[in-house]
Amino acid sequence: MILGKYSFGIGDRFGHQGRAQLAAVMKARAQGVDITPVWNKSNREHGIIGTRPADVRKEADAAVAACGFQSRYYVDADHIGLTTVDAFLDASDFFTLDVADSIGRPAPDDQVQAFVKKHKDLLGSHRIEGIDERLVIDEPQLRALVTKYLVAVRQAGETFRHIEARKGVGRFVTEVSMDETDTPQTPLDLLVILAALADEGIPAQTIAPKFSGRFNKGVDYVGSVEQFAREFAQDLAVLGFAVAHFRLPANLKLSVHSGSDKFSIYRPIHRALQESDAGVHVKTAGTTWLEELIGLALAGGDGLALAKDVYANALRRLDELCGPYATVIDIDRAKLPDPEEVRRWDGAQFAATLRHDRRCPQYNPSVRQLLHVGYKVAAEMGPRFTEALNRHEAIIAETVTANLYDRHLAPLFLAT
Ligand SMILES: [Zn+2]
Repeated sequence: MILGKYSFGIGDRFGHQGRAQLAAVMKARAQGVDITPVWNKSNREHGIIGTRPADVRKEADAAVAACGFQSRYYVDADHIGLTTVDAFLDASDFFTLDVADSIGRPAPDDQVQAFVKKHKDLLGSHRIEGIDERLVIDEPQLRALVTKYLVAVRQAGETFRHIEARKGVGRFVTEVSMDETDTPQTPLDLLVILAALADEGIPAQTIAPKFSGRFNKGVDYVGSVEQFAREFAQDLAVLGFAVAHFRLPANLKLSVHSGSDKFSIYRPIHRALQESDAGVHVKTAGTTWLEELIGLALAGGDGLALAKDVYANALRRLDELCGPYATVIDIDRAKLPDPEEVRRWDGAQFAATLRHDRRCPQYNPSVRQLLHVGYKVAAEMGPRFTEALNRHEAIIAETVTANLYDRHLAPLFLAT
C-alpha cells in the first residue's frame, strides 16, 4: 500500500462529517491536486468520545461510497504503541507508531557501538542537495544521537513487526511519530533516526518529527516562520539523502502533526514542496469539531443554545479539560468571556468569536483553544449533541467543507 504524494489527515471526532470532509478533498481534485484522505483518530480520542476504531472505518467507507470517491483512502490508528494497537488491527490500514516517550532512554553501549561501526560513513561532512551548509557529524555526536534515539526506534520496530505479523506484508502504511516531545529534532537528528529506522527494517512512508515552535491546539503556529521554513526544507533534503542511501521507501515524506490550523506555515510548506518536488502528509483533528460548533451556532435556535451550553460547561471544567493538553495550549483566562455574556450573543457573534479568521476582530484564540479541547463536554451530551448534528447537517457540512478547502487544502496545495 503506497501512500500518495500529497495526503491529508482529516480526523473527525464524532464521525459525522466524513462526506463533508471528502467533499473538500474532491474539490481540490477538481482543481487538479490529487490528495489522499486519511481518517485519523488516536486511542485517547476514542477513549474520551466513547467510539471504537471500527466506527472510523465505517464512517470512511460510507463517505467514500456516498461521494463516489474513486481513489485510495486510509484509516489511521493515530499515536498507537504495542499496548494499544490491537484494537485497531482490523479497522486500520495506516498505523502511526508513536515512540516519543522513549526518546532519551539511553541505548545499551554495545548497541550504540555496533551502530557506529556499521555507519562509519555517516561520520564526516556531507554535502546534501538542498542544504547550503554541509552537515558535519563527528563520532561523539553520532554516539550521543544513537544513544538518544535507538531505544525509540527499536520500539517502533517491535510494534511494526507485531502489526505486520497480523495484517501481512505490505498491507498497511507505516508512520513513525516523534512529535509529542519537548525538544525539536534537528536535520542531523533526523538523519540518524532514519538510518536507524532503515536498520530496523521499518518501511516508514511518513515520519513526524518535532519541529521548532509551538503547535498549540486549534490556533496558528507560534514561533519564527523563517526558522520553520529553513528547518522544513532541510528536513526534506535529509529525507531525500536518506532514501538514496538507506533502505527506505522511495515515497518517504514528512508528516506534520499540526494540532489543527497552522496557517502561517502553510505557505512555506507549499514553497518547499514546489522547490523540492517532495510530498507531505498533514494531520489535523479538532478543526472539524470546531466547525460543527460554528455550524450549530449559525443554525440558531436549539443549535445555538447547545453551542452556548458547551462553552459554559467547558469553562466550568477548564482545568479538567486542559489538563491532558497542558503543554499544547496557551489560554489567556482573562480573555474568556462570562457565560452570561455569551448567552446574549447571536449565532453570528458566536461563530465570529470561534472561527479561525485572524483578520476578524472578534476572533478569540483563547475561546477557540478551550473549545478545541472541550469536545469531551459534547461527547457527554450524547444524543442531544449528535441529534443536533443530524438536524443541522446542511449548514454544518457547508462550514466543514469550506474550512478544510479554503483554509487548509487550497493554501497548502494550491497556494491560493
Ligand atoms: Zn501527533
